Amino acid sequence: MSAPSRPLAGKHAIVTGASRGIGQRVAELIAQAGGDVTLVGRDTERLEANAAQLMQAHGVKTLVAATDVADPQAIEATYAKASQALGAPAILVNNAGQAISAPVHKTDLELWNRMIGVNLSGVYMFTKVALPAMTKAGWGRVVNVASTAGLRGYAYVSAYCAAKHGVIGLTRAVAQEVAIKGVTINAVCPGYVDSDMTDHTLNNIMKTTGRSREEALSSIVVHNPQKRLVSTDEVAQAVLWLCLPSQGAINGQALGINGGEV
Ligand code: NAP
Repeated sequence: MSAPSRPLAGKHAIVTGASRGIGQRVAELIAQAGGDVTLVGRDTERLEANAAQLMQAHGVKTLVAATDVADPQAIEATYAKASQALGAPAILVNNAGQAISAPVHKTDLELWNRMIGVNLSGVYMFTKVALPAMTKAGWGRVVNVASTAGLRGYAYVSAYCAAKHGVIGLTRAVAQEVAIKGVTINAVCPGYVDSDMTDHTLNNIMKTTGRSREEALSSIVVHNPQKRLVSTDEVAQAVLWLCLPSQGAINGQALGINGGEV
């Protein structure tokens, strides 16, 4: 029997960080697979434009929810609004993230709290509010976009690294809790991706070391055995795959999308 062309038809997905980069591509792939999408982020203009494109290209329902994922109350309000508009979400992709670099002795408490808030507490809070409806329905998919920084250390990003390690710990623990309830939760761990986030990293390296863009790029792709950046599509395809009804046995995994770096 051939696979259905729209395997996520009738399912509502929340995708955080859907304004650009990996999250924008995840939202597109979910819509292409027939899923309705709530697009979460802070840049309302970009979210609205992406939502309009998804409706036009794929005929799915969308909702834009401007939300700072570091704000737990905003997450609760967004989840309630999304459920009311498009029904209880069956899929949650925790993708929003931010990486600000500094050596640990220059990482002040504000930066530390910001990195943990955006990259870890936001994932915890969205997962916490979304799981009850999934377990009640007996079906759900949570995919957390972690990082190779959740599996190994990198210099000058201790707060980000700590947060991403936390995301993987959270994923593994919750996977044990939901295992018999028809819900799976997994993480993907990209290496450096061709997105705005890496662009900021390159600009930062150029500014602090005086290197050219080409030299800065060489200094980061050296981590990836394939000696290249990962594309947003490569990450998003893995996220989509984990969301499919056919992937019910994959639970609590931290899947490397990094050319074999870890
Ligand atoms: P990106 O192009 O910079 O996109 C980041 C997304 O996160 C944007 O949509 C942004 O939306 C959203 N976001 C950031 N802070 C937010 C906040 N406080 N509240 C709500 N949304 C927020 O980066 P990307 O490469 O696609 O990154 C996506 C995920 O992949 C992140 O979790 C990142 O840590 C992870 N990752 C990236 C790389 C890499 O090399 N780029 C490698 C491994 C893992 P707004 O600006 O609209 O708020």
